[in-house]
Amino acid sequence: MEIKGFSSRVIHTEYAKKDVHNALQMPIYSNAAFEFDTAEQMEDAFIGRSPDHAYSRISNPTVENFEQRIRSITGALGVTALSSGMAAISNVFFTIAQAGDNIVTSKHLFGNSYSFLTSTLQAFGVEPRFCDLTNVEEVANAIDDKTIAIYFETITNPQLEIADVKALSKVANEHGLVLIADTTLTPPNIFNAGQNGIDIEVISSTKMITGGATSMGGLILDYGMFDWTKFQKFSELAQRFGPFTFNAKLRKEVFRNLGACLSPYHAYLQSLGLETLSLRFERAGSNCLLLAEYLQTEPKIKSVNYPGLKTSGFYEVGKSQFGRFPGAMLTFNFNDREECFTFLNKLKLISRATNIYDNRSLIMHPASTIYCDYPREKREELGVSDTLIRLSVGIEDFEDLKNDIETALR
Ligand code: PLP
Repeated sequence: MEIKGFSSRVIHTEYAKKDVHNALQMPIYSNAAFEFDTAEQMEDAFIGRSPDHAYSRISNPTVENFEQRIRSITGALGVTALSSGMAAISNVFFTIAQAGDNIVTSKHLFGNSYSFLTSTLQAFGVEPRFCDLTNVEEVANAIDDKTIAIYFETITNPQLEIADVKALSKVANEHGLVLIADTTLTPPNIFNAGQNGIDIEVISSTKMITGGATSMGGLILDYGMFDWTKFQKFSELAQRFGPFTFNAKLRKEVFRNLGACLSPYHAYLQSLGLETLSLRFERAGSNCLLLAEYLQTEPKIKSVNYPGLKTSGFYEVGKSQFGRFPGAMLTFNFNDREECFTFLNKLKLISRATNIYDNRSLIMHPASTIYCDYPREKREELGVSDTLIRLSVGIEDFEDLKNDIETALR
C-alpha cells in the first residue's frame, strides 16, 4: 500500500535495519563505536561499501532513523542531522564555498545567520552580498562571476518578509547558482523545498520539529537537483558522485571533520516531535492568525505584522507558497522601547524567552536581545527597530493567550 499522508509517512517510516527486539519506536543507541566481526567488514564500512555504522560522529542508528523519516516526508536525496540549526547553516557554506566566492543574500536574516555570514565566513574570504530578495532584478544585478549561491529564509526572522521562491529559483538556474533556503519558519508539512526549486534546505529542528523545544538540532536536505559539474572545484567529485556530489563532500569531509553531529538522545526526541508536527503547526498557525487579527483591534498597538493578514504586503505570496497559515510567528510595534518593556513585564502566561516554535508562546524584544551587539542605526538597517516585539505563538488555548495580552495592555 502506498502511504501518501505526511503524518502517516513520518510515523511509518521503516527502519533501515530492524531493531533486534522489534521495538516500535527506534531505541536510543547512545554509544560511540560499533564492533565488527572481521577486519574485512570493518574496511567495507569505512570505505562505504556497506551501510554499517562505525562511529557515532559519522553515523548512528537513532540519528539515521530520524534522517530517514525526514527523507521520507520531503523526498530529499540526502539528509544530514546536526547538533543545531547554526551547525547546519555553517556546514552548508563550509561545504560549497571557498575564498574569493560570494553569496547573494539579504540583511533580513536571523541575527546569528547574519553574524555567521558577515563575521565568521567573511574571515575565510567569502563575501556576503546583500540585496532585496523580494526584488528579482536587484538579485540578478548583485550576481557576478564569483557568485556561487543565493541564500534566503522562506519567511525571514523577525522581519517576516517573503520572497517569491520560484522567481529566485529561476534566477539561480539562469546563473548556475545553488539556491539555499532556511525553511525553519515554514516546516515541511506546509512547504516542500525541492518542489519549489530549492537545491539545499536548512532547518533548525530545535523549533517546530522538536515538539516542545526539548533539544537543539539542525538539518541539511539536499534535493540532488543541482548540476555540480558547473562548479570547477567540484568537477572531479561530480564525475564520481553525480547528484550525490554535495552529500559526498559534506558527509565524507566537512560534517565529519567539523564534528557537529546530533546526539542520539536528541534524534530520539526530535523523531517523536516529528510525529506530531503537522497537528501542532495547524493549532499554532491558527492561534497566530487569530491573535494577529485581535492585535489589530488594540488601539495601544501601532502596527501588526503577520503575512497571513490580508493587510500584509506578503499575503498573496505567503498564501500561494505556504497555505492558510504562513508561519506561527507575528510581530507588533508600540510607540517606544519603554512601552515594549512595560507590556512584556505584565504578561503572566506568555513566556518572556528567546527561541521560536515551542509548544508555549514565547515573546521577546529583539533589539535588546538577539540584536543587542549592534548599534541602533545598524539594527534599523536590519529591520529590527526598538519598538518591535516578536511573538512566537504556541498551542495553548487562544482565549487564554488573548486574555493575557488584553490584561497586560489594560
Ligand atoms: N534559522 C532561523 C530562522 C532561526 O530562527 C534560528 C534560531 O532561532 C536558527 C536558524 C538557528 O537555529 P539553532 O538555534 O537551532 O542553532
